[in-house]
Amino acid sequence: MVTELKQQAIMQRASSPDEMKKISNSFHGTSVGFVPTMGYLHKGHMSLIKKSLSTCNHTVVSIFVNPIQFGPNEDLDIYPRDLERDIEKLESAGVDVLFQPQRETIYPKEFKTYVQVDEITDQLCGKSRPGLFKGVVTVVLKLFNIVRPQHVFFGEKDWQQLAVIETMVRDLNLDIAVHRVPLIREPDGLAMSSRNRNLSVEERQKALSLSRALEDAKKKIRQGTKATNQLKLSIKDRITAESGTQIDYISICDPVSLQEREEVNGRTLIALAVKIGSSRLIDNCIVED
Ligand code: AMP
Repeated sequence: MVTELKQQAIMQRASSPDEMKKISNSFHGTSVGFVPTMGYLHKGHMSLIKKSLSTCNHTVVSIFVNPIQFGPNEDLDIYPRDLERDIEKLESAGVDVLFQPQRETIYPKEFKTYVQVDEITDQLCGKSRPGLFKGVVTVVLKLFNIVRPQHVFFGEKDWQQLAVIETMVRDLNLDIAVHRVPLIREPDGLAMSSRNRNLSVEERQKALSLSRALEDAKKKIRQGTKATNQLKLSIKDRITAESGTQIDYISICDPVSLQEREEVNGRTLIALAVKIGSSRLIDNCIVED
């Protein structure tokens, strides 16, 4: 009880870059881990946070639903939010700082600079959501500059995002270690996501087809199917067997370059995005042939 109260008392909060920078300055000489999120925290986020807590002296978590990464007809307005619940989770985990910037402090009227990673942003989610990664990379670099972490933690749930951030960190010579954290699933296989909150009971049932289609594909590969067009067809059939599902993409590709493969050959990424009702869900797995 005493420990819990002590932990609750020590989480600092910053709502502007200036406030956060003051705290970052006070951490000088210690190791700072940073976990950027859009909030509505679940066990997937908490696994990144636990990794940071066990790796670094201080852990900073940001909650910011970044408007510039959403397209005009996307779900910015209905993105799940519950700050009070998130704060409770962060405090009881022992997080040092919650950075929850107001939108105008990140994007003041005079804001003009964007960061763009080429090529790997043309595939998968980048293809169907133009502007997504320009928005992600720009906000992530801004957050890195404000928090100034030595370690950052990203989930393999968003495989392409991780690849894009690693590329940006390498290309811009940032002294930051990017840690990959495995995808966390619900007991029935559904990839954990804040967006699952917007699924009806029926839609959630249909959403299980994503992880099940990936499991079926893994099995087919183990049994000797190598041709990716054949595998894609069976994934498509498995998912569209559920009415009301709309496939955005199914990709079977190199896990680093994200270039499509004709055959499963060595370490391979299977990634997919499917729209169910108003929610767009993603899932992925790695296969070794
Ligand atoms: P988000 O709040 O969805 O932007 O996610 C923030 C971070 O949590 C990103 O690095 C995500 O990849 C990671 N994340 C989200 N869901 C999961 C999950 N189910 N398993 C592991 N990491 C996740």
